Order: sequence, then structure tokens, then C-alpha cells
Amino acid sequence: MLRSQIKMIIVITISFSLMMIFGVGHKLLNDVKLSTWQITASLKKNEIDSDHDWDDWRKNSTVDINHSYIYVHNLRQDAEARYYFSPRADDLLQKKMIKVPFINNLYYRPGFGFLYRRFVSSNGIYYTLWQNIGPQLSILMRVIEVSAILLSVTLVLAPIYIRRLTARLTDPLTDLSTSTQVVHQAEQSGLIQLPVPSQPTEVTELAQDFNHLLALLNQRQDQQKLFVMNAAHELRTPIATIKSHAQLIDRHGADHPEIIEKSVTYITKESRAMQQIIEDLLAILRVETLSLALTRMNVTTAVSEIMQPLEKTIPQKLILQLEPNLMAQTNLEALEQILHNLIQNASKYSKPSDPIVVTLSNKENGSVALTVMDQGLGIPEADKAHIFEHFYRSDDVRGSIPGTGLGLAITKQFVDLIHGHLSVADNPTGGTIFTLLLPSAIDTTHQSGHS
Ligand code: ADP
Repeated sequence: MLRSQIKMIIVITISFSLMMIFGVGHKLLNDVKLSTWQITASLKKNEIDSDHDWDDWRKNSTVDINHSYIYVHNLRQDAEARYYFSPRADDLLQKKMIKVPFINNLYYRPGFGFLYRRFVSSNGIYYTLWQNIGPQLSILMRVIEVSAILLSVTLVLAPIYIRRLTARLTDPLTDLSTSTQVVHQAEQSGLIQLPVPSQPTEVTELAQDFNHLLALLNQRQDQQKLFVMNAAHELRTPIATIKSHAQLIDRHGADHPEIIEKSVTYITKESRAMQQIIEDLLAILRVETLSLALTRMNVTTAVSEIMQPLEKTIPQKLILQLEPNLMAQTNLEALEQILHNLIQNASKYSKPSDPIVVTLSNKENGSVALTVMDQGLGIPEADKAHIFEHFYRSDDVRGSIPGTGLGLAITKQFVDLIHGHLSVADNPTGGTIFTLLLPSAIDTTHQSGHS
């Protein structure tokens, strides 16, 4: 990380320096062009073909020609001299100039340095101006020197600064990493939280997030422990009953054969209860790892098709009140499981003579509401908040109506998978209403609701 950051800073500094050098160079060259243009414009106004003319022009001219060499070629009839060289201009022209590539009119002459050339003519007189750009070059050299100093300072200071900055970030991270290694030991004492450093903010937030995650994992682990304990507890009762009846048959079956039939009936009943608990537990595990594809479908058709076979499995009359052609984004398997569980419960907790009503309607927000209404026992207010928990059963049904307390927990898992929302309320005419809200067909971004 350190090396790449240093590289980045060096690249930025070099780019910045180059930009500065090119910018200043460009500006200086433009200045040279302007001053040569001013000189040649002034020259054009005068006819210079002798030292006398030259001195006159110099006296009257306001432009700076301290770094200029001028060569005049006079082709006019009245010319005093055909060729004229300003002071040292003939020396300059004695040797060939070296053209500087890429920049027009820029030449190098050993002994004179870099020169900018401008050529103009007026009234038969041809002027060639050679402007020495030494002063501009010395400014440019200063800029290059400053850039080089800047780069050197950056090279020295950047690693120190970046190392300190990185240490500020990595030191707390290293502490955090060390702490994660002791979490395992701390877990035994029940303290699984990492120390939260106050600086820097990024690491503080990371540690807080990590602790939040640990708390969630901890909570999940507690829930799993509770789930296993409850499962063991629920299985212990039928096992104890089966065991006691088996012992009864073993001890007294020979002398009292009449108890055998009764005990076998109990054993069969408890075995069925155990089997149901195990099947429900397996269902919970299966749904936990299930992922279902949601598709846009006609729920009215889907619900009426699901209801047909269900109707035959219950003694109650099933009344369907379905609005036609309602569309929703859902999954058929989940819908089947949810309806199956709700109808079975409605049937189990109602008298055979009480009808069960299933309705399907459109909500104002575009979602579709599916309700299962019964006129049975109803659910006590205090139990409503718990009936979706694993193994929870109302006191008034425990022992009298068979059940595992897992059906609604499985139903809730399916509801979550289809991003639905399941709620429970009292039926005003007695009994219970379960309402399932299905996200609308258009709203594909809808996230999981709470059930
Ligand atoms: P189970 O029905 O096997 O006990 P569920 O998870 O399906 O388990 O239901 C949990 C509890 O919710 C039930 O024990 C019962 O107390 C209550 N319950 C569920 N549905 C109804 C209903 N339609 N009418 C009355 N009580 C219900």
C-alpha cells in the first residue's frame, strides 16, 4: 500500500511539474514572439542600411533590442549599402545555425545560445531578426529548478508522511485483528466484543460494525441453541410416553393382555406426533437454504387451482371470494405451502360446521391481499405476537388439539422468501383472519417484508 501511494504521489508531482514547465515555456515563447513582432514592426518603419541609421533608430525606438541581432538586405535602387549587419550580427551569421526540432523559427548557435528568428520585408528592404531568448530560458531554468526541488522534497517527505498516515490506519486494524484472535477464548466467558478505538473514524466504524455482526451471530447462536433445546424438549414428551407404555406392556402385558391394545394406540399416537415434529424440523431446515424464483403470475388462477385439492382434505366448507385476474410477483410452491398451512390450521381450530372463507383482493398500493378466515377458537391477544415462533402453541390448544407449533414458523419462512407480509387478526364474527400481502407485479425491487 505504501509503495503504491508513494508512486502515485511521485506521478502526480512529476505531472504537475511538467505541466508547469510546459505552461511557463509556452508563455515565454509567446512573449518572445510578441517582442520580435514589435521590433520588426518598428524596423519596417525605418530604412536601415548604415550604422548611422541604426544609431538613429536605436535612439528613437522604445523597444528593447539588447538581445537582438539584425541583418538587413536592401534591394532598393537608392540604397546606401546593400547589406547591413547590426553589431555582432555578422559574427552570429558566420556559422550555420542548428534548428531546434518541433518549435518553428527556433535555432541554436554555439557561443550565442538559443535564438528566435523573424523575417519581414518592407519597400524592397528585407529584415531578418535573431532574438536571443537567454533571459526567457533563465526563467524557465528557474522553474525547472523549483520543480526539481519540489520533486526531491516530495520524494523525501512523502514516504515519511504516508508511513505515519498508514500507521494511523493500520495500527488500530492490527489491534483489531489481534482482538479477533482472542474472541474465541472470550466466547467462553460470554464476552465477544472487540475494543472500539476512538481514532481513526474508519476503524472505529469498522470495529462497531464488527461488534454489531458479532452480536447478531451471538444472537443467532442463542436462537439455535434455544431451537435445539425446544426440539429436544418437544421430542422428549412422546419418547417418555412411548417408553412408559412399552415398559407397561413388558411388565404387565402377559398378565393383562387388555392393556396391550390401549398402550399400542398411545404408542402409535405419540409416534405420529414425533414423526410430525421431525418432518416439520426437516421442513424448516430445507426452507432455510431454499431460494425461490419470483415470477409475475395470475394469482386468482393460482389460488383457485391450489384450493381444489385442499378442499377435499378438510371437513369444513370452503368459500372462495376471489377478484378476477389479479397479478402478483410470487412463487407457486411458496403460495401452495402457505395456503396449505393456513387452511389446515383454520380447519384444525374450527368446528367442522364452521365454513372457511378465502378472499383475494387488490390493495390501493397495488399489492394483492389474500385472507384465510375461520370462525373457530380464535387466538388470545397475548399469543398473537408469538404464534410465528418455533414450537409456540396457545395454552388452550396444547394437550387438547394435536400440533407441533412449527407450522406457522415454516409459513413465515415461505412468506419471507416471496417478500410478502403475513399478519393475524380477530375475525369480527369470531375466529381468526390471516392476511398475506403479496408485492405487486410491477414492483420488482420490493424487498422482504416483515411477517
Ligand atoms: P400448530 O398448529 O401445529 O400448533 P402452528 O405454528 O401452525 O402450530 O400454530 C401455532 C399456534 O397458533 C397454534 O398452536 C394455535 O395456538 C395458534 N393458531 C394458529 N392458527 C390458528 C387458527 N386458525 N385458529 C386458532 N389458533 C390458531
